[in-house]
Amino acid sequence: MQFIEALKLRSKLLFLFLLITMGLISVGILGTTYVNAMKKYIDALYFGSLVPVTELNEILQKYHNGLADTVYKASRKEMSSSEIVFNLEDALRDIDKKWKSYMSHFKTEDEMEYVEYTNMEIKSTNRYFRQILYAAKNGKDLQKISINTLEDRVEYIHTVLQKLINYEVNVANYERKKFLITYNSMLLHIGIILSIIIVGVLLILLYVFKSIQKDQTQLEISAKKLKRANKKLENASYTDSLTGLHNRRYFNFIYERELKRAKRNRTYITFMMLDIDYFKQYNDTYGHVEGDYALKSVSKVLQETLRRPSDYVFRLGGEEFGVLMSETDESSSAKLAREICDAVRGRELKHENSKAGEFITISIGVVCCVADDALDEKILISRADEMLYEAKESGRDRYIITSNVSAATTKPIHNEKIA
Ligand code: GH3
Ligand code: MG
Ligand code: MG
Repeated sequence: MQFIEALKLRSKLLFLFLLITMGLISVGILGTTYVNAMKKYIDALYFGSLVPVTELNEILQKYHNGLADTVYKASRKEMSSSEIVFNLEDALRDIDKKWKSYMSHFKTEDEMEYVEYTNMEIKSTNRYFRQILYAAKNGKDLQKISINTLEDRVEYIHTVLQKLINYEVNVANYERKKFLITYNSMLLHIGIILSIIIVGVLLILLYVFKSIQKDQTQLEISAKKLKRANKKLENASYTDSLTGLHNRRYFNFIYERELKRAKRNRTYITFMMLDIDYFKQYNDTYGHVEGDYALKSVSKVLQETLRRPSDYVFRLGGEEFGVLMSETDESSSAKLAREICDAVRGRELKHENSKAGEFITISIGVVCCVADDALDEKILISRADEMLYEAKESGRDRYIITSNVSAATTKPIHNEKIA
């Protein structure tokens, strides 16, 4: 059975199919052979014994009822001579016909010897009755017939025929026995073959089932692994590797989605553009490694300050960050921008070559408005960029906020220097 276990599912199914086919073919061949054999036995039983026995019995009856009875009645003048002639002729014709028919059936050699003897006796007995028929035809007195001779004749032919009948009945019993043996042997053989097939099919089905189950489990495990790997890959493709913040790719996706949602619900949408002040100098002064550390530190500040699930913080590139918030009005947005500036500065990352202060600082351009259908998708970014430029121009370490989202540049509504 290890052999079946080692097979692949497809081979197991093929094996199962072959086994069933072979089983059906064997049962078919065996069944046909046995049915043919049984047909032969039934034929032998019917034509070899039952029909002959019936014919012999009918002949016997004719001797008694057709011939002897007529002669007996004739001797007592109980029958007209025409009736006598008719009865005798009819009975003799019938006996001849039935005996010929009996002789035409298949006979064994052993049987043939006794059949020949019976044939002689029948002929001799029939001759006796033909003589009486002749006498009757010629109007002879039938009262002279010896009843004793008649009885002896009939009794003798009765004994001869009865012996043949007994022989045929014995043959019939023997044929029936052979038929039953063949029938039982057929049942046994077909039963054995069917049992083997059923056990084989069940065993293979068990292995097929086990193998499907194994494949299914493996498939489920692989699907789970694939899902996890895809999730990881998706996260990786949306995450900035240095800071762990969302990257620009994710920004493009979220920005569009959040803007649509705000437009649909006509709620506040806030976009901030943030840029570290004099960062080039920082790198030049402290080196890139320190620069990276500063970037991580600023990212942490942003994550800590913006904690709502609907606040998104992105590293848009270099030392530039983006913040997208929904349902936050101007004063709350301004408050958060100030908190960010304060927190970045509050980290006290030494920046001795900055003209904005002794520590690393950040400038923020903020745009905050209620979204409606007229709001242009690009305008939030370009207005935030403008505000950032303004913040840089007006001294850095500050935020500038506007709610004006018309295409033409206008003056910012708020310009705050946090000292
Ligand atoms: P400003 O105040 O006008 O923003 O001056 P700035 O020096 O910050 O402006 P600029 O955009 O010219 O310089 C940005 C610098 O940021 C240049 C580059 O050295 C630095 N930078 C960009 N990406 C990285 C990074 O991944 N790691 C580090 N360490 N530095 C970066
Ligand atoms: Mg920059
Ligand atoms: Mg900068």
